[in-house]
Amino acid sequence: MKILIAGAGIGGLTAAMCLARAGFDVEVFDQVSELRPLGVGINIQAGAVRILSALGMEPALAATGIETRELRFANRHGQTIWADPRGRHAGLPWPQFSIHRGELQMILFETAKKIVGADRIKFGRRIAGFEQKGSKVVARFVDRAGNPVETAEGDLLVGADGIHSAVRAHFYPNEGPPKWQGIMMWRGITVGKPFLDGATMVQAGHHTQKFVCYPVSRRHAEKGEALINWICDLHMGDQAMLPREDWNRPGKLADFLPRFENWKFDWLDVPDVIRKAHTILEFPMVDRDPLPRWSHGRITLLGDAAHPMYPIGSNGASQAIIDGDALTQELLMGGDPEAALQRYEKRRLPPMARIVESNRRKGIDIMLDIVEQRAPQGFDDLDAVLPPQELEKIVADYKQLVTQDRETLLKLANAQ
Ligand SMILES: Cc1cc2nc3c(=O)[nH]c(=O)nc-3n(C[C@H](O)[C@H](O)[C@H](O)COP(=O)(O)OP(=O)(O)OC[C@H]3O[C@@H](n4cnc5c(N)ncnc54)[C@H](O)[C@@H]3O)c2cc1C
Repeated sequence: MKILIAGAGIGGLTAAMCLARAGFDVEVFDQVSELRPLGVGINIQAGAVRILSALGMEPALAATGIETRELRFANRHGQTIWADPRGRHAGLPWPQFSIHRGELQMILFETAKKIVGADRIKFGRRIAGFEQKGSKVVARFVDRAGNPVETAEGDLLVGADGIHSAVRAHFYPNEGPPKWQGIMMWRGITVGKPFLDGATMVQAGHHTQKFVCYPVSRRHAEKGEALINWICDLHMGDQAMLPREDWNRPGKLADFLPRFENWKFDWLDVPDVIRKAHTILEFPMVDRDPLPRWSHGRITLLGDAAHPMYPIGSNGASQAIIDGDALTQELLMGGDPEAALQRYEKRRLPPMARIVESNRRKGIDIMLDIVEQRAPQGFDDLDAVLPPQELEKIVADYKQLVTQDRETLLKLANAQ
């Protein structure tokens, strides 16, 4: 069976490798003329590392990124609200990695060339149209200028072409731009000193003003430095207009630094980290409404094309990776491939819709808002502000929702 994949991002390449490993004939097409190590930091949760490890990437990930030890939530004064061990530090069989997105993309690409075949991953090919002809799908690809480059025929087509998916737009032509609730994100990378234990991811502040940071480079850690990935979220007011979102748009310090000027924690000088950044990018926090269907006959969606979500709880890349594994498992069961795509949708769409909706309601970040409302000037006794039972319930509900709870992950480990 031949499977065409539009998009060689994190989701598309992982799906291609899972499918090729399982014996399917795969061809991947991306609109860019070459893959470049773009973006800033990203986290891959243990449940997704499970899949990349099975494809042989764990040594490269460990040599490049940071094995995340802990996820810590803090108020805007830097006081800890909750800390959760991650990956192997939580007793799971796989680590969680914090890594530069560009480096992750290149690790995926190098591995995909070996597993899928370098000649099966093609660039300068934007999917411009497709149709189902009997039991085949015929897809047309064009170059940047819109000139036809190639027509490919396969048994299935997977749209892994990101938040502006052309495959999704074919089925939902009136959907319009992504949805925005007024939060702008500035994302940066700074070479600094290690903070806390050198392997902790921190979320500090509250929903309308938040600072997220984590180290992403093993190379820097070995030199006694930290390559700190950071994100500043700011609510821009209810009347603000959605700017055209572009992953590579540069950001300006003056637009957000003044609001973080007094965020000097005893473990990190936030304005100093921001000021010393060598890269600052600006991106609105956007998502899309969950779809009623991903699979239409022999065509389906995967990753951000299927379920773009707010980057809360490190789910974007992790869930895109998990999609590829789920699709492969359903196809491996054999039988009618259209039925397999329906099963894949049935398995993945409802939980992804729940994450999109939960993240709109702030997801696990709700604990930050509760503490900000109840103790805006900080606290001496956290239990008096947010009782342990209330906190534990927020955490347990969210982990179960994103299927990153220990029981689910250990079940998966035992099934391998
Ligand atoms: C350049 C870039 C930088 C990013 N930086 C960050 C970051 O710093 N932090 C973060 O959290 N997330 C970032 N993301 C998003 C993140 O990669 C995704 O949210 C997540 O990993 C899901 O991956 P995906 O493969 O579904 O989508 P993506 O990673 O967005 O990949 C989609 C791929 O499809 C290709 N594509 C798009 N349209 C077409 C078309 N019509 N035909 C063929 N190919 C097409 C794109 O070139 C891209 O390679 C970035 C995405 C991109 C493309």
